[in-house]
Amino acid sequence: MNSVLLIQQDEPDREALARHLRHAGWHVWECSTREEGLALARQHRPAVVLWHATTQGEDRFELCRDLRSDPGLAGVRIIVVRGGGQADDQPLAMASGADAFATAPVAPADLVRLITLLAVPSPGAADSANAAHETVVRFWGVRGSIPAPGRGTLEYGGNTSCIEVRADGEIIVLDSGSGIRLLGHELASEFKVRPLRLTILITHTHWDHIQGFPFFLPAYDRKNHIRILGHEGARESLTRIFSLQMEGPFFPIDFKELPGHIVIEELQNGEFSIGRVRVRTVFTNHPGACLGYRLTTDQGTIAYLPDNEPCYLVHPQARAQLGELGRGSSAAQAQEDLTREFIRGAEVVILDSQYDAREYKSRMGWGHGCVDDVVRLAIQAEVQRLYLFHHDPDHDDAKIASMVDQARSLAAAHKSPIVIEAAREGGQCTLRRP
Ligand SMILES: [Zn+2]
Ligand SMILES: [Zn+2]
Repeated sequence: MNSVLLIQQDEPDREALARHLRHAGWHVWECSTREEGLALARQHRPAVVLWHATTQGEDRFELCRDLRSDPGLAGVRIIVVRGGGQADDQPLAMASGADAFATAPVAPADLVRLITLLAVPSPGAADSANAAHETVVRFWGVRGSIPAPGRGTLEYGGNTSCIEVRADGEIIVLDSGSGIRLLGHELASEFKVRPLRLTILITHTHWDHIQGFPFFLPAYDRKNHIRILGHEGARESLTRIFSLQMEGPFFPIDFKELPGHIVIEELQNGEFSIGRVRVRTVFTNHPGACLGYRLTTDQGTIAYLPDNEPCYLVHPQARAQLGELGRGSSAAQAQEDLTREFIRGAEVVILDSQYDAREYKSRMGWGHGCVDDVVRLAIQAEVQRLYLFHHDPDHDDAKIASMVDQARSLAAAHKSPIVIEAAREGGQCTLRRP
């Protein structure tokens, strides 16, 4: 039976949540202090620990680390709930080992949903034995800005950003551009009557990164559990923006009517885990607020920065981190250094390479990368494999192929062993531990 441990000082609130959980079929243990909590967790090995943390000081999330480092508790899911006004604690809680973070007050029904979502058995457990030793990256959408179907894009594909990563028993989806529609069909036929649990990481809410979600079949099946994580939109909350694109004038079905269990959580910049996969984020140089993700699995590291102008600083979120404007300024240099260090040593790096050097001259400051800059950075960061990504909707297959040639000749001139390809819809790569 699924089991949960509740650690919360406030007894009436804790009992109310325990009642909700028991009603939903959960076995519940309860206690009021973290010391009791640690002892109970070690004794009963619950699937989920939900902790209302009131601790202060630098070590305030030490309990997460204690739980995470106990070999008898491998696979435990940890949810930290923090008092109002302490949302800034999210990065520290997640870096300390929490799987999810929420700020009080949270309705018991929402907590039950989150607990259920985290406790659904890992889909990887049903995969072939081999899959446990592999990280597989599949490209479902590689295009930037707007879908570009047609004869000119048959080779590389016309769907917008969506990548599937299967690793360490997790299914992680990077962005939900129009490519996610085909991924949804594939998952539905693979899982059939089995429940599906997956996490979608959103870089930002520009339309080419979220427009496919209303057509994602698993969201329409009540046995499925979907967790969407991303930074808040530039002006509205992430939940609001996902709902907005499904409102009456734009779409026939409201977000709230989707039968799947869907939880949206807003991330601060920082580090956290999805099961055993470690995730780091960075703000990229792009209009609004846009994240890059770095996923580290048992087999290697994948860095994904689909929208980023690496060597020119103009956009507010990046500027807030670093200062001044313009290519060649010290802040632009700092932004370039930040990108280089973020991708350093990764086995697979997927980077915004929307323009060639000639196009880029008239598009500086638009928030997208120039292939020459991207190749130079990837070489300096000593990455193994670079995928050019976020192809311009006006670039046909021949143009993209010529950009790959240009990128490879730059690498050859630098005598770099880096492997360079253009991301291709339907393409995939596999990481294995040597
Ligand atoms: Zn984009
Ligand atoms: Zn964008």
